[in-house]
Amino acid sequence: MAEPDFYLTEEQRELQRSLREFVAKEIQPIAAECDDRERYPVELFGRLGELGYLGLGFPEEVGGSGGSRLDYAILCEELAFGSGGIALGVYVHMALACAALEAFASEELKQIWLPRALRGERIGAWAFAEAGAGSDAGSIATRAVADGDEYVLNGSKLFITNGPIADFLVVVASTAPEQRIKGLSLFLVEADRPGFRVAGSLSKLGVRASEMAELVFDDCRIPAGNRIGRPDVGFLDSLATLTLGRIASAAFAIGVARAAYEATLAHVAARVQFGQPIGSFQAVRFGVADMAVQIEAARLLCHRAAIAADRGLPHGREASMAKLFATETCTRIVERALHYHGAAGFMSDSPIQRYYRDCKVFELGEGSSELQRNMIARDLGL
Ligand SMILES: Cc1cc2nc3c(=O)[nH]c(=O)nc-3n(C[C@H](O)[C@H](O)[C@H](O)COP(=O)(O)OP(=O)(O)OC[C@H]3O[C@@H](n4cnc5c(N)ncnc54)[C@H](O)[C@@H]3O)c2cc1C
Repeated sequence: MAEPDFYLTEEQRELQRSLREFVAKEIQPIAAECDDRERYPVELFGRLGELGYLGLGFPEEVGGSGGSRLDYAILCEELAFGSGGIALGVYVHMALACAALEAFASEELKQIWLPRALRGERIGAWAFAEAGAGSDAGSIATRAVADGDEYVLNGSKLFITNGPIADFLVVVASTAPEQRIKGLSLFLVEADRPGFRVAGSLSKLGVRASEMAELVFDDCRIPAGNRIGRPDVGFLDSLATLTLGRIASAAFAIGVARAAYEATLAHVAARVQFGQPIGSFQAVRFGVADMAVQIEAARLLCHRAAIAADRGLPHGREASMAKLFATETCTRIVERALHYHGAAGFMSDSPIQRYYRDCKVFELGEGSSELQRNMIARDLGL
């Protein structure tokens, strides 16, 4: 049988190998403890930066390591294999905060922030969601009002990953409220700006190694040069361009699903009931075989979207399909993994219960399954 990822280049296989070693050595040993303590291992940003992983997919002129979207998908899968929560913190930093800067910020802003961010010396967050605005971006109420050569921000953001540890935030704020979604702009806000504060950390069901907060902007003044991209339509531009987030979400889901699948494969071979390994019972064999097929199918969809992006081809529908299929598949696989582990998987010291708590978030974030179905249907002309 051909290697399932026979289409990867030798460099990409090497990247995968080195990431697997890194994750086994530096992420897997701390994953359970970070989850228990709800603490992000911030020093990991420095290690990932040092090794060039944080710069993957970013041009060398801004301190990136070059490389492709497919390289990035490989990185996301491997990090999430080690810990969904740790991967989430890296994702928000790279795929949302840094990617928005790279795509839309002024040269000056890029040069100030990106090289340090891609070395892991500065941590970014993406501040979009609010109490009244989740799927519906048009309801964003945080206002940014131009005042001379400054903007004044007022409002609050909820559910912001990296909020408690970020050095800078990419904030989505309304600059033309009557235009709703067509009146949203992006801004870089430094975490030490007067008028900005982290209102409180939030505790979660899953991906608990990532830290989350509510953020408040109270007459927070920033230079006009901190606006990222075009006024009013900056957010819409970012939606059209930042498909990387959907590809990343798919890859994360595949990483968590693979971790659950590999643990299950080992467990059903070792666990003996009725005098034989449970993996010899047809009901279990079929279930595990389905897991293997679903992971490969999800990875192919994810890599197809990444390759289309790398070739400059339209890939919005492909990214949505990959995100939808991979994240729903992950939830299904992890549920089966817990089922085949029996009570052992239900115990607090089992990684399976962590995967079970982690998986659902991938279906919700970066556009929920329903939003992906809406986008796909729209693209199909419905
Ligand atoms: C762990 C975690 C990390 C997060 N990190 C960040 C972050 O770093 N930055 C950030 O800005 N936000 C973050 N979020 C918030 C995230 O952006 C929102 O959860 C997401 O936008 C969905 O919004 P909501 O949760 O308010 O759900 P809602 O929008 O209230 O949706 C609830 C349900 O209604 C459904 N629904 C909504 N509209 C429609 C529709 N038109 N048709 C059909 N069904 C619909 C949804 O699919 C969903 O099932 C995070 C969330 C979580 C859980």
